[in-house]
Amino acid sequence: PKYVYDFTEGHKDLKDLLGGKGANLAEMTNLGLPVPPGFTISTDACRAYLSAGAAPEGLREQVSAHLAALEEKMGRKLGDPTDPLLVSVRSGAKFSMPGMMETVLNIGLSDVSVSGLAAVAGDERFAWDSYRRLIQMFGKTVLDIDGEHFEEALEAAKRAKNATSDVDLDASDLALLVDAYKAIVREQAGRDFPQDPREQMDLAINAVFHSWNTERAKLYRRQERIPHDLGTAVNVCSMVFGNLGADSGTGVAFTRDPATGHSGVYGDYLANAQGEDVVAGIRNTLSLEQLEQLDKASYDELMRIMKVLEGHYRDLCDIEFTIERGKLWMLQTRVGKRTAAAAFLIAANLVDEGVITPDEAIERVSGAQLAQLMFPQFDLTGKPNRVAKGMNASPGAAVGKAVFDSYTAVKWSRSGERVILIRRETNPDDLGGMIAAQGILTSRGGKTSHAAVVARGMGKTCVCGAEELDVDTKARRLTAPGGVVVEEGDVISIDGSSGAIYLGEVPVAPSPVVEYFEGRLGADSARAGELVRSVHRIMTWADEKRALYVRANADTPDDAARARRFGAQGIGLCRTEHMFLGERRALVERLILAEDDSERQKVLAELLPMQRDDFVGILTAMGGLPVTVRLLDPPLHEFLPDLTELSVRVAVAEARGEDNESDLRLLQAVHKLHEQNPMLGLRGVRLGLVVPGLFIMQVRAIAEAAAQVAKAGGVARVEIMVPLVGAVQELEIIRDEARAVLDEVTETTGADIRALIGTMIELPRAALTAGQIAEAAEFFSFGTNDLTQTTWGFSRDDVEAAFFSAYLDRGIFGVSPFETLDRDGVGRLVSLAAGEGRKTRPALKLGVCGEHGGDPESVHFFHDAGLDYVSCSPFRVPVARLEAARAAV
Ligand code: PEP
Ligand code: MG
Repeated sequence: PKYVYDFTEGHKDLKDLLGGKGANLAEMTNLGLPVPPGFTISTDACRAYLSAGAAPEGLREQVSAHLAALEEKMGRKLGDPTDPLLVSVRSGAKFSMPGMMETVLNIGLSDVSVSGLAAVAGDERFAWDSYRRLIQMFGKTVLDIDGEHFEEALEAAKRAKNATSDVDLDASDLALLVDAYKAIVREQAGRDFPQDPREQMDLAINAVFHSWNTERAKLYRRQERIPHDLGTAVNVCSMVFGNLGADSGTGVAFTRDPATGHSGVYGDYLANAQGEDVVAGIRNTLSLEQLEQLDKASYDELMRIMKVLEGHYRDLCDIEFTIERGKLWMLQTRVGKRTAAAAFLIAANLVDEGVITPDEAIERVSGAQLAQLMFPQFDLTGKPNRVAKGMNASPGAAVGKAVFDSYTAVKWSRSGERVILIRRETNPDDLGGMIAAQGILTSRGGKTSHAAVVARGMGKTCVCGAEELDVDTKARRLTAPGGVVVEEGDVISIDGSSGAIYLGEVPVAPSPVVEYFEGRLGADSARAGELVRSVHRIMTWADEKRALYVRANADTPDDAARARRFGAQGIGLCRTEHMFLGERRALVERLILAEDDSERQKVLAELLPMQRDDFVGILTAMGGLPVTVRLLDPPLHEFLPDLTELSVRVAVAEARGEDNESDLRLLQAVHKLHEQNPMLGLRGVRLGLVVPGLFIMQVRAIAEAAAQVAKAGGVARVEIMVPLVGAVQELEIIRDEARAVLDEVTETTGADIRALIGTMIELPRAALTAGQIAEAAEFFSFGTNDLTQTTWGFSRDDVEAAFFSAYLDRGIFGVSPFETLDRDGVGRLVSLAAGEGRKTRPALKLGVCGEHGGDPESVHFFHDAGLDYVSCSPFRVPVARLEAARAAV
């Protein structure tokens, strides 16, 4: 197989094969831009090398042939004693992994060729400087020597000369430094620095292959979700020199400002320097304006090339260049990374400039970038004191006084304090405190723990699973590594985008993009600014493009109203369990304890008007858009006191000889309802089937609320959803009971109640028998949280902390299946159920309401699977709108 490609043989679309750098070097070569000649060893060769542990057959010969051609073209031989050709060996994967992999410059220099180079260049200092750089880079990257040793030797050389900068060292200083470096190599690597240029080159190539699998490279890929099996290409390029004196230098440049997105070139230049010197910050760099003063001809040429590149790539490009004695060379280009804000601005500007279409603009931005723009951010310029790091569960920047229980959170916030609720983990009891708090911090639980899911739903900042923290809720204090203690009332700051936890108050800047989505900042207003205007325009194009509807998961009129402002086209999941908490809890307790039907009916009759008001509020807020109400789902014991706490209370009362009749009864009930696996127990439709009257009361509340809204002149479109169905029979029973109630309410009120009855698909059996279930369901909503839990057999509440990091490390999956839908497994069930369901009932409405509904990658899957809508937390609605459009482009 062919492993090696000359720069003239490739082009920019061969990134899989040649890596980003190689593909773009080829593209520039073919555009006629001044690229030093060279060749690229493909990622195929890297993969073959990594799997066999040795260079694949034929690679050496192909490299020899391409090297010979290069030598021919350059009229010099690699490492020739009198006039050496020197090359660089640089890594370059498909996706850029800045600083993760290796580069070796000046290959071909040796004790003899260094004199040849000095003679040809007419510059002793330059030759020795290049040689010492080679040994340094080779030592670090190929021979794995700690860079500190070389740094120390360089510092010592500077000290000996009283020099402040490396340019103050002369040829003889640098020759001495070369000796010192060679000694370091001998000592640290147990071998001499290789004098054979070809051996240098081959070892460097292998080192680049190896660098694909260093720990930091793996970690980087995991974070950036880059697959581990791509491998890197290797670029061998003839050297040009920026360290040939004052008329030489090296720099980086951007065709637009990557931080703001503003038009106009931007860059840094360093005279008499090579390679990483610019980024390493060893000397102060010059601006491009200063380069213009210094070397007008090179500057003009650079401007011309940047124009060519932007026009050709039709996007912001970044560039590495070198000037060798007044001649400009291009060493790299690529479509440049940019901040989220710059991405939106550039995309909108390029449409205005007539360079790209609105569809392309949608592709140039991402939901993740939009999400970043929506969260307030900490201003870290003051270098705040970071005490620990947890998981970035729900983005945002929150500051407040530490409180360790929900009650205090509510009380303090009522008196105007901002608080951060800190718990080991949260449960439904903490809801009040979570609502009152600016942010939530837990020391246990993963990204789908209660705290994380609820916080995301509320758009509230949350850092969870900060295991380095010892949270002592009784003592109202937490202890961080290094013995740092935070007591109740101490101010802390938590960053839900990074997971960082800071001591004290870190300043925060609000997001204008959220103000815009909330309708508090018009896109045309003077205050809006170019970023908001760009977001507005791109979102308008996105809404025209997308096929998926986007709904929100919302349980309160406030959430519903916000979701609508964010562009939700309905509610895809209204969880009713939150309507059974707070003051109503006592009623629910009575319902569970009811010994006979009349007591049960009494309680249900008390709950009915409350539920009805809840639904009136939500239906009114949604003004005629569809609202999916899910009947009660969680296991009943969640509404009862904790078993251990209650047992203690009963025992204490007993010991004191106090009357504890009601606690005793409660304890009995708790015992009776106690389950080993409550998530697989008495919940969802099973509750509806065994607790008489419960679901019927809820359906009646929905029907009466719809009638009331209709009577008041509004439109109510409800979709009644039955959770945790596994068999069509379960659904049929509930459906028949519900229909009867709907008919009855329609009859007695005379109102036009438009209600669909459908089900969640959140168990494998439901997916597998979707064809049957569709007989009884007017819609399906995929509950991908439970469907993931039951398909993998992973408990959604425990699993992440326990072993997900090991699974991620070992590559079993690249991202938690609770975060991004597992296409191969869970996704297959979704597709199967969608297909079978529609076979039975072609008009079947299909949606998803699990957390995946707001995850960008998963949204693309749901688009491809032909669903009608996704539903996600209100704050993710804009992200889902954008990603749905990107999926449709
Ligand atoms: C689901 O299981 O995906 C779902 C939306 O329901 P819940 O998260 O309330 O179990
Ligand atoms: Mg569920």
